[in-house]
Amino acid sequence: SKDMYEFIKKVPKTTMVVIDEAYNEFNSGDETYVDSATWLKEFDNLVVSRTFSKAYGLAGLRVGYMLANKEITSILNRLRAPFNVNIAALAAAIAALDDEEFLKKTVDNNTKERERYATYCKEHGLFMIDSKANFVAIDFKGHDAQLIAKELLQKGIIVRPLLGYKLQDILRISIGTKEENDRLFNELSKLLETI
Ligand SMILES: *Cc1c(COP(=O)(O)O)cnc(C)c1O
Repeated sequence: SKDMYEFIKKVPKTTMVVIDEAYNEFNSGDETYVDSATWLKEFDNLVVSRTFSKAYGLAGLRVGYMLANKEITSILNRLRAPFNVNIAALAAAIAALDDEEFLKKTVDNNTKERERYATYCKEHGLFMIDSKANFVAIDFKGHDAQLIAKELLQKGIIVRPLLGYKLQDILRISIGTKEENDRLFNELSKLLETI
């Protein structure tokens, strides 16, 4: 975004800026989106990291990539462990880059379902932090978020409490398929009546 660009401009050239773009692909359709890779020409101290673990569906294969100027990539190439990405993961990543249909399907589903989370929260008086990723953070203030998480777990639905960040009213929820989200909305609605 423009804010990020302004930020990088202010950072001294001797300080490296690393942008972790694990959720980059989910940004599609956002008109404020700027591809940070286009800034690499202007900023020699910029590093962009991306992964195949999220939108490409290859979590567990431990494969991703970074974009930076030649000076940085050549140093890292010398420092990285030999064969740090295995050949099967590389083959999967290359195939994933070609599978535009899968990526589009994943991103479209996520965008649509994220909108349903926003609507659900509005209808139930819950505040949802604006998200561009494949998860949402919902504020359950007035309810016991920890108990809600525990009860959902009993139903086989895993959501993530954020106590580690001292955010006791907030739960982080990964956006699933339509059916998975339907099930969550259904269970959650029942819980909100009593908890
Ligand atoms: C998933 C994720 C990554 C990268 O995950 P790998 O599986 O190690 O490629 C990096 N940053 C954030 C914030 C993530 O959520």
